[in-house]
Amino acid sequence: MDLEQVLACLTDGARQVLQADAATVCLLDEGGAHLTVAAVSGLPAALLRVGAGSPRPYMVEHSPLNGEALTGQPVIVADTRADPRAANVPGDYRSVLCVPLMHEDDPVGTLHVYAAVPQRFDEEDAVLLMSLAGLGAVAIAAIRLVLSLSKQLTAMKALEASKAHFIHVATHELRSPVAVAQSLMRGVLKGYAGELADEQAELFNRINRRLNFLESLINDLLDLAAGKAPELAEEEGPVLLNASVGRAMLFLQPRAEEKGLDMTLQSHRDRLIVWGTEDGLDRIFVNLMSNAVKYTPSGGAITVSVRRVEGQAQVEVTDTGIGIPEEAFSHMFEEFYRAPNAKAMDEVGTGLGLAIVKDLVDRYSGHIEVESKVGQGSTFTVTFPTLVGW
Ligand code: ADP
Repeated sequence: MDLEQVLACLTDGARQVLQADAATVCLLDEGGAHLTVAAVSGLPAALLRVGAGSPRPYMVEHSPLNGEALTGQPVIVADTRADPRAANVPGDYRSVLCVPLMHEDDPVGTLHVYAAVPQRFDEEDAVLLMSLAGLGAVAIAAIRLVLSLSKQLTAMKALEASKAHFIHVATHELRSPVAVAQSLMRGVLKGYAGELADEQAELFNRINRRLNFLESLINDLLDLAAGKAPELAEEEGPVLLNASVGRAMLFLQPRAEEKGLDMTLQSHRDRLIVWGTEDGLDRIFVNLMSNAVKYTPSGGAITVSVRRVEGQAQVEVTDTGIGIPEEAFSHMFEEFYRAPNAKAMDEVGTGLGLAIVKDLVDRYSGHIEVESKVGQGSTFTVTFPTLVGW
């Protein structure tokens, strides 16, 4: 899909089909007032002004031959010496046939063929060249569309990357003051700054909860930015799924115990290797398991199982928690969404965790499913293709 190549084909093809001595293609600019010689065949390339900078456009109104063709009609010049429209014809050519390059009723340029002898082209030639020009115009329009789409895509990618970069920098800047404030607050709550009255303790506890929320929001935003910005993500490769689930389990178990939850892991004996990054897979399972811990009241149970199903690797995180209301199913993976029963709980949440999980699962060609009943619990099932031979 190279415009130069297509135009070269068009001029060479026109020359051959009509057995002409030379051919040129001129392209119209967006405003429709200027034409530029874009390809030549049988004529010196100097006509394109290659070497002396880019081709110089000329005004349509100064070129009667092109002006007439651009109205949609072929123009035949039987003898350039006797036809004032042929004043700008290059070289000593005596006959010219000029047809418009029309795409969906709009002219995109003109196609010319030249011959050294007069009376060389007739109506039949004009019909032939018009159909060739029609094909050429479609090809030109298609290439221009692809070029403009790829430009837009590049611009969108750059925007996405700079957005992610901005979030990354901003969250890093926010992280340290929040961590400092959290540690100071822990000191105050432990009484290092003196005994606290009940009202003071209540107020400081509220501030502490807000700080914890801020911390998870910053962490989630950072995760989201890292997932979406390719330059921030580590390189993908084969990862041992069992190990990733095991690490997430180790990380969450103390929190589960603290809350009085029974958390068990049923891991597949085989090594299940999937495509991804260690960091990304860890984030998936930490997010799912921390939701299970968060949304299961004390006394409940969480079961994590890893298994091979029809050649695929499957991880299931089941809890006996608050469950997910039906109306939340279609929104759960949206950024910042939180179901009303989750919001009603005294638990910190940003609504970003599942958006991060979904983003990563898609990246690694997996899929995620949810089954849940309010008041009874939820099961999140993530499935990935397994890699063999690693
Ligand atoms: P949050 O930070 O609120 O936990 P997530 O994106 O991880 O954000 O989850 C989005 C919403 O999905 C939660 O707010 C909650 O309503 C629901 N949800 C996710 N996991 C569970 C679960 N294990 N049990 C009940 N609800 C859940």
